[in-house]
Amino acid sequence: MRIPRMLSAGYFLQTQAKVQEIMTKLLFEIIREELCDVVGEDGVDTSEAGRFCYGADYSWVSRAWVDRGMPPPVPDYVVLPRSTEEVSRVLKIANHYKVPVVPYAGGSGVNGGILALFGGIMLDLKRLKCLIRIDEKSLTVTAEAGINGEILERELNQVGLTLGHYPASGYCATLGGYLAARGSGTLSTKYGKAEERVVAMEGVLPTGEIVRTLPVPRHATGPDFLNFFIGSEGTLGVITEVTMMVDPLPEVRDFQGFLFKSLEDGLEAGRRIMTARLRPCVIRLYDPPSTIRFVQKVLGIQVEGAFMVVGSDGKKDMVALEMKEISKICQALGGEYQGRKPGETWWEERYKFYFPPF
Ligand SMILES: Cc1cc2nc3c(=O)[nH]c(=O)nc-3n(C[C@H](O)[C@H](O)[C@H](O)COP(=O)(O)OP(=O)(O)OC[C@H]3O[C@@H](n4cnc5c(N)ncnc54)[C@H](O)[C@@H]3O)c2cc1C
Repeated sequence: MRIPRMLSAGYFLQTQAKVQEIMTKLLFEIIREELCDVVGEDGVDTSEAGRFCYGADYSWVSRAWVDRGMPPPVPDYVVLPRSTEEVSRVLKIANHYKVPVVPYAGGSGVNGGILALFGGIMLDLKRLKCLIRIDEKSLTVTAEAGINGEILERELNQVGLTLGHYPASGYCATLGGYLAARGSGTLSTKYGKAEERVVAMEGVLPTGEIVRTLPVPRHATGPDFLNFFIGSEGTLGVITEVTMMVDPLPEVRDFQGFLFKSLEDGLEAGRRIMTARLRPCVIRLYDPPSTIRFVQKVLGIQVEGAFMVVGSDGKKDMVALEMKEISKICQALGGEYQGRKPGETWWEERYKFYFPPF
């Protein structure tokens, strides 16, 4: 007996695939419409070119894909919220439809955290960029998480303050990115890593629930919810607002250079400086090959050996005393004093190391 075409397995599978395709397109459109309802048409980008821009960060894997012309993993939607409320509503939609969400800020991360390996929503947070409050009495600043690091620093400098966080990516990274990636900066030896400077945070959980930690420096009891978001690389929720400690701009900031015969001597000097409980703002030590590669080539300082830059900042007299003690320690280990100039050049040119042609 002949089976009618409509009942054959081939016909059934073909029809099923067609229905599935239509349903997928329909669902895609429903989700897009819902996202547009929250952030507006101009806040949702589904164009191929738009999505492609989010295919790589500064992780070596994603750079290798780009260099080899391989297609990067791209999201289905790029969504740009303007407020915590909008972030919350977007996450509720994503949670309802079980669509993956990747927070994206400056895109300067080096761990591949923004790669949309499973498609979904790329939540670009750069529109959350308001500086909300500078509290000159308590020495804190509160800002939205997508604010650019350098812009925030310049605003603080205008009123004689500093965030004290100087990553080499300050021009492109954001406040939220500093914390989500547990960033450190050039002066973290004294001022602490980003995570040590945070006082309070507002974030949105994957369910869309908005949570806020208390704006106090210490808790007497209970777990510290701040640590839930810090270093989470966007996997546990979205940081939307942050209160950070700030410091007055120092009266002076002094840098000096020392040249050691070996890396070991330089390391020992660093150990002695820190265990003497001196508080340099930076100790940067280059091993002999790096001294040639970076200090000679990038900074134009013609030295050979293990080059060290030590910095100190704060009140003038304190800095002078600290530098004297540091100098004694370095010279006792054979560290040849190179004067201020190499140290100052290093500070002025410190971002050069990370950008082409170096
Ligand atoms: C040239 C260069 C120099 C660098 N120098 C330093 C340096 O000196 N010190 C240092 O620590 N790092 C440095 N980095 C690495 C990088 O800049 C930092 O990790 C930075 O903190 C990332 O911030 P971003 O805003 O670019 O975040 P992105 O790259 O956009 O995101 C990084 C990760 O955090 C998540 N994320 C971002 N924002 C949020 C948010 N609001 N809520 C939840 N999750 C979020 C993302 O999903 C991703 O997983 C450098 C990178 C480059 C390219």
